[in-house]
Amino acid sequence: MPRIQQLSASVVNKIAAGEVIERPASVVKELLENSIDAGATRVDVRLEAGGRELIRVTDNGCGIEADDLMLAVSNHATSKIVSADDLFEVATMGFRGEALASIAEVSRTLLRTRTAESASGSELRVNGGVAEPVVPAGCPVGTTIEVRDLFFNTPVRQRFLRSPQTEIGHATEAFVRIALAHPEVHCRLEHGQREVHDLPPTDDWRVRIAALFGDELADALIEVESVDPPISLKGYAANPQYSRANNRLQYLFLNGRNIRDRALQHALGEAYRGLLLTGRYPICFLRFDMPANLADVNVHPTKLEVRFQDGGRLYSQLLSTLRTKFLSSDLRAGPGGQGVSPTCEEDLAASGTSSIVEWAKDQLTQRRFDSASAPSPSMRPVGEPLVMHRLPQPFRPFPEAGGVRPMPRAEEVSAEGGADDIADAAANLQAAAVVRESGAKAIQLHNRYLIVETEHGMEIIDQHALHERILYEQIRAKVAAGQLESQSLLVPEPVDLAADEAAAVLEHRELLKKLGVAVEPFGGDTVLVSSYPAMLANLPPREVLGEVVDRLMSSDRLPEATDLLDELLHTVACKAAVKYGDRLTSEEITALLDHRHLTENHHHCPHGRPTALVFSCDDLDKQFKRI
Ligand code: ADP
Ligand code: MG
Repeated sequence: MPRIQQLSASVVNKIAAGEVIERPASVVKELLENSIDAGATRVDVRLEAGGRELIRVTDNGCGIEADDLMLAVSNHATSKIVSADDLFEVATMGFRGEALASIAEVSRTLLRTRTAESASGSELRVNGGVAEPVVPAGCPVGTTIEVRDLFFNTPVRQRFLRSPQTEIGHATEAFVRIALAHPEVHCRLEHGQREVHDLPPTDDWRVRIAALFGDELADALIEVESVDPPISLKGYAANPQYSRANNRLQYLFLNGRNIRDRALQHALGEAYRGLLLTGRYPICFLRFDMPANLADVNVHPTKLEVRFQDGGRLYSQLLSTLRTKFLSSDLRAGPGGQGVSPTCEEDLAASGTSSIVEWAKDQLTQRRFDSASAPSPSMRPVGEPLVMHRLPQPFRPFPEAGGVRPMPRAEEVSAEGGADDIADAAANLQAAAVVRESGAKAIQLHNRYLIVETEHGMEIIDQHALHERILYEQIRAKVAAGQLESQSLLVPEPVDLAADEAAAVLEHRELLKKLGVAVEPFGGDTVLVSSYPAMLANLPPREVLGEVVDRLMSSDRLPEATDLLDELLHTVACKAAVKYGDRLTSEEITALLDHRHLTENHHHCPHGRPTALVFSCDDLDKQFKRI
């Protein structure tokens, strides 16, 4: 065994840097946290080449005394705690006193700072952990920290850095987390020549959320609040109509610190149970405030994870607050939700509480025309249209033979389904007509199920699940046969994404090309979709890309092209299929039943739900005690 030696400060710092500073985003996080701790009301972040060349954070906070400057970059030196007891009362973002030392160890760092009390500022350069003397410098009150050439002296680390686009994506996310936690601070982020975010201070959290995630999402947020002394919970949870394929839009804050907490995420999932389809995650922005000593923030080097004294209580508070709120809320789409087409989620939502049923019905009826079949005007149709399009719906007057009820007045019979019962009765009559006219022998029940006479008994078919299965198989067969037609858009469509999403999409351009989706960078976080699979003509490019992005972002590993495609096929089939709640014409019912036998696995929809329940004559006879 070699002899034991004390490690040098430089090695210690490099080890610490390995834990705390993983990539430019970590530097952005640490520097921003320091600015917040310094009481800044304005922070400007500037990055070059994804932060690899330059990360500069300028704040108007309290500044650092010239005499303390050297200490600021020394390990385990902090102004934020003094004793170990303070660890349990931490009210600042930082307290470990190792971020600046770590950063300065693995980069060329410059600190320029002035306190309000001193007439002039001071400056300190540290190159790869080697500090130059502190010198006077002219500067305003506050602090600027410039970090250049990150990891220049740790080549292994440097090799782990990804493309500037990916790094800027992570750095932006770090910025967003802090900007969300501190709406009272004016936060700006620039990358190269581009302004990524300029967020004026606000005391309305929703305004900041809207500035970061768009008005549409902000409009779909439901405000929640509860106090269980001494713990308060405040924030927003999105209408279940909005969800993601990953949990990245679940922002949780504890005393102004963004945290990750599996238990709380689980509570969220529970609160939305029945409102979202498996594999979809809620969106939320929630802040817990409680006395600092009820949580231990010193369990994770970057303080992302915390340990609660009474995690169970928090869990219940979150769950019950959301549940109670949902029960008393009208979960219909807000004004911002109009553009979203119905999906399986909404089918599922429809099986939840009655207000949700009503909501889903409305949504589905309202959108059956606009979302189902009209290709977007900028499309140049090349290949075949999507198999089994919805047939155009002729206007069907309600039959006078309704008998039981008075005739509805014209204004009651609207596309929004104002006179549901009447519509149902009419649908039944019409289904009976299907039996007579086409010999399809199907009755549509409640615009959801088809009852069919079979050779040995009867089946009850879930119209959406069956159609989805048929479409899925048809599309998959085409793909397998290499007949996946791509079509160019006459006018390529710009799609705005979050910075990290844009990065992921561009990084996986080749993979996307295999799926027939061609994307180009378009400056900023916008990508241009120039062509995409012809069979997706029914869906706006942004929706297609959104699904791909969700999938790309939800796994650490690059998904296999086939997995990604499969995922996409599920989505497409689901979106293109007739919906739970859609009234079908006799032609549609016939077409649906005719296609059923062409599919390999028509007993289950691609999500694994059964498409049909089968009852044999024997079963029925037994039920009726005939045998
Ligand atoms: P910590 O934040 O855990 O204390 P850091 O290494 O991040 O450790 O910072 C060391 C010290 O440098 C801080 O405790 C603080 O006193 C000082 N400091 C760092 N950044 C700033 C800033 N932007 N404004 C004022 N003081 C700062
Ligand atoms: Mg710090």
